[in-house]
Amino acid sequence: MTSQQLPRVCVIGAGPSGITAAKRLQDHGIPFDCFEAGDEVGGNWYFKNPNGMSACYQSLHIDTSKWRLAFEDYPVPDEWPDFPHHAQLFEYFKNYVDHFGLRDKILFDTLVTAAERQPDGRWLVTASDGRTRAYDALIVCNGHHWDPRMPDYPGEFDGVLMHSHAYNDPFDPVDMRGKRVVVVGMGNSGLDIASELSQRFLAARLTVSARRGVWVLPKYVHGAVGDRRRMPPWIPRKVALKMKQRFVRKFRGEMEFYGLPAPDHKPFEAHPSASEEFLHRAGCGDIAFKPAITALEGPRVRFADGSVEEVDVIVCATGYHISFPFFDDPELLPDSDNRLPLFKQMMKPGIDNLFYLGLAQPLPTLVNFAEQQSKLVAAYLTGRYLPPDPDGMREDIRAAETARTGRYYDSPRHTIQVEFEPYVRDMQREMARGAKRAAAAGNALPVPARALDRV
Ligand SMILES: Cc1cc2nc3c(=O)[nH]c(=O)nc-3n(C[C@H](O)[C@H](O)[C@H](O)COP(=O)(O)OP(=O)(O)OC[C@H]3O[C@@H](n4cnc5c(N)ncnc54)[C@H](O)[C@@H]3O)c2cc1C
Repeated sequence: MTSQQLPRVCVIGAGPSGITAAKRLQDHGIPFDCFEAGDEVGGNWYFKNPNGMSACYQSLHIDTSKWRLAFEDYPVPDEWPDFPHHAQLFEYFKNYVDHFGLRDKILFDTLVTAAERQPDGRWLVTASDGRTRAYDALIVCNGHHWDPRMPDYPGEFDGVLMHSHAYNDPFDPVDMRGKRVVVVGMGNSGLDIASELSQRFLAARLTVSARRGVWVLPKYVHGAVGDRRRMPPWIPRKVALKMKQRFVRKFRGEMEFYGLPAPDHKPFEAHPSASEEFLHRAGCGDIAFKPAITALEGPRVRFADGSVEEVDVIVCATGYHISFPFFDDPELLPDSDNRLPLFKQMMKPGIDNLFYLGLAQPLPTLVNFAEQQSKLVAAYLTGRYLPPDPDGMREDIRAAETARTGRYYDSPRHTIQVEFEPYVRDMQREMARGAKRAAAAGNALPVPARALDRV
């Protein structure tokens, strides 16, 4: 089969997900263009990305260890520390693209502004260069950490109210020295920023406000990188979860020991917050805790326990909306609670030429998650995989939803939560089943090559 006969694909985004999807398409001779809004690859890991979409801050080190984030066909440098800095990741992604000769296929500084599915199934993709191009399939890799979710507090605030997305360092965009700062939220950004600003020579007072407590997990366990420990796949998932929960309680102790609010859930029933610094800073008394903010009152902030404090800056580390501004069709968009049910976190039943990659919060890593997903996409586009029919897909989505809601507390934060290894094992089984379905259908291409308008 020549590449001419294969469907022509549009990839939106050249962050880690987009570049690894592009690499897989190239490996299989599938023609594609990759559109990137910024002037370089790397997405979130490009600090001060001129496209304004990166949530990186100056001190950010990845929470996933180097042992778990590497692409399977491109090792990370030996000299890297266990938890590399964002600048090292940025170099790694640039080198990956150059090593595999992908750079020429990426249209930089080109924002996709509209992607419309035609009645015949083809996608018309319009970009900021003013051109509209036709594609047979669309792979969406636009990331889900760039559209800040701001809390809606009643009242007016005289100080600075900002999202963690805008935070670069203790002096930019706000000089935090001597300021009374409230960091809202105890996810990973919240813990990092609070740890950083709580140093005595920076904020005059650092308060963390959160609706509920969290389990702060260790990055090292008995001197070794924690995320390298894997449960043997033969241990049932419920048993494995219980063992991990027991371990965290024993190893870390209760969160109240460090002065933190008690979590209302068990370890691993929320997307983990991991930090070696935060508990120490809290234990040193440099971080105070408050419940949720209930009102803004000029120079003061009111909390759910009735207390009121004078505050200069509020940093909301309150997460992100999942957004696809290039889609108009509500069927392709998540609801206001970040819910967008997809088969294997990728495909919408009834739409046979659209894939959302990297639209997950996988543990322990999202960096190389789309690399695994793109195996299924490439097999599909080359006629070696067929998914179940739409009813079968819906059934699978329901089962995955039930497992997820039984495991994590209900929150927009958890609608795309998955575990990396079980997900990949499940996908491998599904690919084997789908290979049989494809063979039974004569390995015909499920997405015909019809987009003749070349770039
Ligand atoms: C503070 C922070 C810490 C994190 N820490 C970790 C961690 O420890 N481990 C981990 O695995 N993950 C972490 N992440 C998650 C991070 O999102 C992923 O590691 C990774 O960047 C996801 O890659 P992606 O390609 O899916 O998305 P992104 O990295 O967001 O890349 C998306 C790309 O798409 C481009 N784009 C978007 N819209 C368009 C458009 N319309 N047209 C053209 N181009 C477009 C953007 O310019 C960008 O380059 C963290 C995220 C944040 C914010």
